[in-house]
Amino acid sequence: MWPKGCHFVVSPQMANVMDLKPEAVLRLRGRVQYWAERLSLRPRAVRVQRMIKKWGSCSTSGTVTFAADLAVHEDQFQDVVIVHELLHLRVRHHGKLFRALMGVHVPHWRTTSRGKARRGNAEIASTTGGAVN
Ligand SMILES: [Zn+2]
Repeated sequence: MWPKGCHFVVSPQMANVMDLKPEAVLRLRGRVQYWAERLSLRPRAVRVQRMIKKWGSCSTSGTVTFAADLAVHEDQFQDVVIVHELLHLRVRHHGKLFRALMGVHVPHWRTTSRGKARRGNAEIASTTGGAVN
């Protein structure tokens, strides 16, 4: 089940970003639902919008945002980004605990993130200890 009271918001400008199919967005939504349940984490809202420098972000108010073009990536990479952002609801920083939790839930996270760094200091890249780029 989709987390109760959690809004799923797809930015209207998203269609301009790329030729995103509704099925792709639904697939991404399904992965978010799966992980929210599995991690017992409940974002206040989940947004999909245009993001250039990051694949995702997590606000202190509990809103998790994903880059629209994440929707066209394979499940494995989506999972890394989704788990990363959802875990921020529990652990704000990329410390030892955060990396340990990533290792438990998405053991492939380091190799999967390789080569997928966003321009500049990509959020996901910053936790991989320079394994990207
Ligand atoms: Zn992060």
